[in-house]
Amino acid sequence: MSAVKTYKNLIGGEWVASRSGKTFENLNPANTDDVVGIFQASDQNDVNDAVAAAQKAFETWRLVPAPRRAEIIFRAGELLTQRKEQYAKDMTREMGKVLKETRGDVQEAIDTAYFMAGEGRRLFGATVPSELPNKFAMAIRVPLGVVGMIAPWNFPMAIPSWKLFPALVCGNTCVIKPAEDTPLSTFNLVQTLIDAGLPKGVINIVTGFGPEAGAPIVNHPDVRAISFTGSSEVGRIVGEAAAKSFKPCSLEMGGKNAIIVLDDANISLAIDGAVWGAFGTTGQRCTAASRMIVQKGAYNEFVDKFVAKAKSLKVGDGLDEKNEMGPQINEQQINTSIKYVDIGKKEGAKVLAGGNRLEGAHKKGWFFEPTIFGDGNAKMRIAQEEIFGPVATVIPVSSVEEAVEIANGTPYGLSSSLYTRDVNKAFRAIRDIYAGITYINAPTIGAEVHLPFGGVKATGNGHREGGLGAVDFYTQWKSVYIDYSDKLQRAQIDTGE
Ligand code: ADP
Repeated sequence: MSAVKTYKNLIGGEWVASRSGKTFENLNPANTDDVVGIFQASDQNDVNDAVAAAQKAFETWRLVPAPRRAEIIFRAGELLTQRKEQYAKDMTREMGKVLKETRGDVQEAIDTAYFMAGEGRRLFGATVPSELPNKFAMAIRVPLGVVGMIAPWNFPMAIPSWKLFPALVCGNTCVIKPAEDTPLSTFNLVQTLIDAGLPKGVINIVTGFGPEAGAPIVNHPDVRAISFTGSSEVGRIVGEAAAKSFKPCSLEMGGKNAIIVLDDANISLAIDGAVWGAFGTTGQRCTAASRMIVQKGAYNEFVDKFVAKAKSLKVGDGLDEKNEMGPQINEQQINTSIKYVDIGKKEGAKVLAGGNRLEGAHKKGWFFEPTIFGDGNAKMRIAQEEIFGPVATVIPVSSVEEAVEIANGTPYGLSSSLYTRDVNKAFRAIRDIYAGITYINAPTIGAEVHLPFGGVKATGNGHREGGLGAVDFYTQWKSVYIDYSDKLQRAQIDTGE
């Protein structure tokens, strides 16, 4: 076996060890004997160095014209395209999801690069008439400064790209902390940006654990904004800490997303969507469908086919192309799935498929069976709380109105989906479902990078990633008034009366 590689932090353009000298191992969730890499366990001191480097770099980076900044992001997109296969393999090895999906994850970073590269020649502001003669008025976008980014493990390249690319095009400098379970993919992304020509200090990466390496980024007085993706529990800590120093803070958190299937739906299509929505990424997407709300006329057929398909899914190492579902990310997530299966049984739901950790040939990894509960009801904890594993609950309903009410009846509001052939019902659901994303005749997953991404209630705090939402977050408005009248003109006072 070749020696395990040690990865260092990137601070001010140099690869450096953590000041404490502490490190941690990144394990392959499909085979925990396989150590993917050794990474720095950073703390406050490393974060201080990274923020100082980013602060220094901001003074020159903000003056680089946005189209030039964007050209670097475009080049990064080109390089990612060349490296897609290798980066996908690295990602499957550290995160577990199957190769088809990790290729998609890298592709999402490529799409984001090309979209945001175009933004470099837009970054639209507004010119508006002044109320006074011989006076010009406009609102322009300016960067925020040093932005701190804290990322989760389920989209280890796509989510960092959603944060980094718009922030950089807008003229900010960055300190990013990847999730402790998947730092390698962020390294690959950052290495690509360096190879594309990003100047020293514009991007800094510190690896480590949340309280030790994440919290100091949030609390640092020179960090001007925070972008966080992760659990609602940690999001609350991050949001409260950021509020103390009035930092803009974008939080993208949990979900309990529902697929509604009406009697008139194309049931085969709905089954395909349900299997992909529930078990894609092993159910570990914030947009995963963990509730299937099915009208009674379609219930039996839906359940029979859904269960049959779930049972036929090939579970195993994502690097083997024949496997359709990979492992969970770590022991803790497996334990969460086990815990909720137990809760569901006690609540009276019926296990129709799966329900167990996979042993035998799967013993060295964190594998869990695709699991379906039938006869669920909206109040059960398995239908209310985010599980973040391959566990779905089917809930029978009588009408579209009841379905929408149940879909809306959780603390979260990220994604949602409705299968129907009735255009009137579709449009009413689009209007009435309280969520950031609604799909018609498609599952809850599949966001495209040029549309806003985010949700309501416990899912988010009003910001959006992707699309123009990202540009809004990574810039602030400056209003500019240019008076060419050569005399004092007073707004609201010299009204011309
Ligand atoms: P997940 O369920 O995806 O593991 P978490 O919310 O636990 O979600 O973690 C998301 C990110 O937040 C990770 O990078 C993690 O290290 C970081 N994190 C965890 N705790 C804190 C904290 N107290 N302050 C800042 N970041 C944290």
